[in-house]
Amino acid sequence: MAVNMLGMTENEVAGICGSLSITGFRIKQIYKWVSAGKDVPGMTNLPASVRASLTEAGYGVFLPKIEKKLVSSIDGTVKYLFSLSDGELIESVVMKYEHGNTICVSCQAGCRMGCRFCASTLNGKVRDLHYSEILGQVYAAEADTGEKISNIVMMGIGEPLDNYDNTVKFLHTVNSPDGLNIGFRHISLSTCGVVSGIDRLAEEDMPITLSISLHCIDNEKRKELMPVTKKWSVDELLAACKRYFDRTGRRISFEYTLIAGENDSVKQAAELAEGLKKHLGRMPIHVNLIPLNPVKERGLGTSAREDVKRFQDTLISHGINATVRRKLGPDINASCGQLRHSAKQENEENTEKKGDTP
Ligand code: SAH
Repeated sequence: MAVNMLGMTENEVAGICGSLSITGFRIKQIYKWVSAGKDVPGMTNLPASVRASLTEAGYGVFLPKIEKKLVSSIDGTVKYLFSLSDGELIESVVMKYEHGNTICVSCQAGCRMGCRFCASTLNGKVRDLHYSEILGQVYAAEADTGEKISNIVMMGIGEPLDNYDNTVKFLHTVNSPDGLNIGFRHISLSTCGVVSGIDRLAEEDMPITLSISLHCIDNEKRKELMPVTKKWSVDELLAACKRYFDRTGRRISFEYTLIAGENDSVKQAAELAEGLKKHLGRMPIHVNLIPLNPVKERGLGTSAREDVKRFQDTLISHGINATVRRKLGPDINASCGQLRHSAKQENEENTEKKGDTP
């Protein structure tokens, strides 16, 4: 069986080498290649016999394979559809900013959180990604673009706190000075509100930025839009945010997707502002407004531009810092999970067609 060495520590690599009687300075050499994301055939300073021992025993450094790549001709945003070793499909997006390149990575194949507006969750969760598969997206994007990635957002397919151990292992590995060496302060993690995970994360001593996909502050309405609210109420979620801030001193950013007629009224904006202030006290609050990127199957529409502006102005008039997210790659417009979903449908249609032919 193939074993992916990507993301392994020097000790883990030494363990493998030991089992294959590879000794001495070769271990360090192999570890360096592994940390550089290079597969065994490319480990050019090793004798062919050492490379053969690794390969024969099934060890390699495997990156996700690019199935599709869309490049925005407007701002250079790149969207990848990757396949994993078992054929599962995931997405990553590389966004180019003045301060460097940011990648948005997926952490699960599909998602079981069931948010009503989101494409990632349409067919539920297939499986968690192993941390090497989350890490592999960053290496694969760097290899393909030839550019260094300096920032990471865990805002792709899946719920990071529903794949907690792989997420945390990924964060430590991507931060390792031997590997990609991306600082915690350059990493954001977004959650739909898995309270148990937020509390665990507060104890990890990792100064990453936490983003909460709030989208609604009224508990009953949020239950409709985001079923996770049935498990952890809005009150419990905001209390966890307060604990997180008190424990870590890290401010939290709130994401708010505006959906026409669902959560975009002036009254809802005022309730959001007052609710946040009531729960969070002196914690600095920032709300990031994201006009919905409509998903055909979901039947929900995006808020009109005037309504977005009105919502933002209302928040600001209540003393809440609010920005509207700039839309990147508008010509390759596809929200998280949409590429995977349409590729899966194409596959199914092809299989059906094949089945039809006598
Ligand atoms: N599960 C995590 C990570 C996904 S992040 C979370 O929920 O935070 C993806 C972000 O995009 C989330 O804020 C999600 O609610 C939002 N989102 C999903 N589908 C969207 C859509 N069609 N339009 C706009 N935002 C969307």
